[in-house]
Amino acid sequence: GPEVQYSLNHNLTRDGRSILCEWSNAILRDEAGGPPSVIALAADVTERERVRAALQDSEQRYRTLLETAPFPVVITRLRDSLVTYINQRAATCFQVSQEEAVGRHAPDYWDEPGQRLRLIEELRQKQVVTDMEVRLRDAAGQPFWALLSARILLEEQEPLAFVSFNNINERKAAEEALQALNGELAYRLQEINLLQARLQEQATRDALTGLYNRRYLDETLEREVARAQREGYPLAVALLDIDHFKQLNDTYGHRAGDEMLRQLGHFLQARARSGDVPCRYGGEEFLLVLPGLDLETACQRAEEWRAGFAGLTVNFGSLALQATLSAGVACYPGHGKSADALVDAADAALYRAKAGGRNRVEVAGAVEE
Ligand code: GH3
Ligand code: MG
Ligand code: MG
Repeated sequence: GPEVQYSLNHNLTRDGRSILCEWSNAILRDEAGGPPSVIALAADVTERERVRAALQDSEQRYRTLLETAPFPVVITRLRDSLVTYINQRAATCFQVSQEEAVGRHAPDYWDEPGQRLRLIEELRQKQVVTDMEVRLRDAAGQPFWALLSARILLEEQEPLAFVSFNNINERKAAEEALQALNGELAYRLQEINLLQARLQEQATRDALTGLYNRRYLDETLEREVARAQREGYPLAVALLDIDHFKQLNDTYGHRAGDEMLRQLGHFLQARARSGDVPCRYGGEEFLLVLPGLDLETACQRAEEWRAGFAGLTVNFGSLALQATLSAGVACYPGHGKSADALVDAADAALYRAKAGGRNRVEVAGAVEE
């Protein structure tokens, strides 16, 4: 048959435009030995060649983009994880050459195999996955955190997984450190709060008896008097003092006296009702603030304490100690309208209890209006 040659040439058209022609030339030889004739056909392929060049450009642009991307990129076939492209950064990360990697199965860089399946599942459902935090392993088998984004790309009907990721190990480490620090801080804060509560407690408590101390009483009584006034209910105070306590100290020693004080503290604490404020007022004096109690009820309570304490035996070593107490009771507003006035009235009543023979309860005298 005839030999056909193809060539591409720029040609000018009649109106002066340049077009690209694909020439096919065939030489026909005469069987009779006459001169050969030439058949030439020209096709205008300007548009075809323009598209081809544009495609090449775009492909080159896209390759360059992937190669210079500041993060690793791997493209795999979705159905079998065969690598169709890997950029230099990804190849470096997994320590393979780009040529080596392409056409093979993706290196097993998943630290948790379940994550690969999760990614594929999500890709199948959504086509696009952005910002998935996963654990990968580098070439040395060292796991690291990666922020991964992926999408499906159809190439000749073949779904490809286009995966890029960033090593976020440092960020993760910082996050974890921060979290640990937060936990530690929360723990310390709790500890501080506890210590503070204990300090607060200590600041308001008497060390020997565990009852409220004088400082706390001073704050509380004023507040309670103000509240009783505001809300219109009565309030009583009872001042208790151990009888002949000096004698007990002198006879049995200071530590025996301490034990007696401690026991009286427990005794009062055990009998306190909600709202009562039992305080150690001074050496062997105790003051009970009794919000809501009228005079009669307060006297009953004081009498119970007096009788109860008189029947109490305090063991100290081999000693069985006994003591009595005297009490003075005063009530707001009849015996005083301020904290100080109330305590003074109770003190005066206590004095009368002492003078009257001790081991007894006396009531304050009414103040003249
Ligand atoms: P009265 O019946 O008149 O109250 O006589 P009293 O001896 O109890 O009263 P006085 O005020 O003379 O003595 C109180 C004593 O309480 C004097 C002091 O040594 C003693 N005392 C005060 N605080 C403490 C303490 O914390 N521990 C001990 N063991 N004794 C204390
Ligand atoms: Mg006293
Ligand atoms: Mg006394």
